[in-house]
Amino acid sequence: MRLLIMGPPGAGKGTQAARISQHYGIPAVSTGDIFRSMKTADTPLAQQVRAIMDSGGYISDEITNQIVADRLAQGDCVRGFLLDGYPRTPAQVKSLDGFLEGRGEHLDAVISLVADEDEVVSRLLKRAATEGRADDKEDTIRVRQQVYAEQTAPLLKLFADRGLLVEVDGLGPVAEVSERLFAALDARMRPASVLTADG
Ligand code: ADP
Repeated sequence: MRLLIMGPPGAGKGTQAARISQHYGIPAVSTGDIFRSMKTADTPLAQQVRAIMDSGGYISDEITNQIVADRLAQGDCVRGFLLDGYPRTPAQVKSLDGFLEGRGEHLDAVISLVADEDEVVSRLLKRAATEGRADDKEDTIRVRQQVYAEQTAPLLKLFADRGLLVEVDGLGPVAEVSERLFAALDARMRPASVLTADG
């Protein structure tokens, strides 16, 4: 099963990605997590990653694409994966398409976790108070919402046009959102013959 999970910062992608990963036995690959672990190193690249992340902007496509391609080439991703936080730009979509095409693979579904802006901003402010993530400051949260709206939200249409989009309401208790996700994904993965038999 090859999946993407998309949605605005604060929609709960990371939380749900971990649950999907466990439920279906596929690794969850989060570019945000990869960059957060990279940024602590004492190298020029880490410094660059730190500065961009802390301001709320996107890391360059070149670096991001390379990191994801390396990660997806690892053995645990052969049977499937869930990408969280990637692709976020048209150039990243292109790179992922090329990667999958080269391996004769395709995406099975793109989850869009839907949550309105007031809700996600209030969740992120709450997270700021408890976890202290460097990019959860109010100004940065606004920049991240704006960058998402401008650069990443338009990609949803592209995946909808490909017939891959599965929209799921991200509001409500975590376990309830997961149940909705599993139901939507199971319905999608069911073989066509079963769908026909069920009407
Ligand atoms: P959120 O979705 O809440 O913004 P993430 O953990 O997914 O949080 O990402 C945190 C930051 O990591 C982003 O604001 C960005 O700077 C960087 N990042 C993550 N994924 C990408 C990507 N695909 N392309 C560019 N930058 C990325």
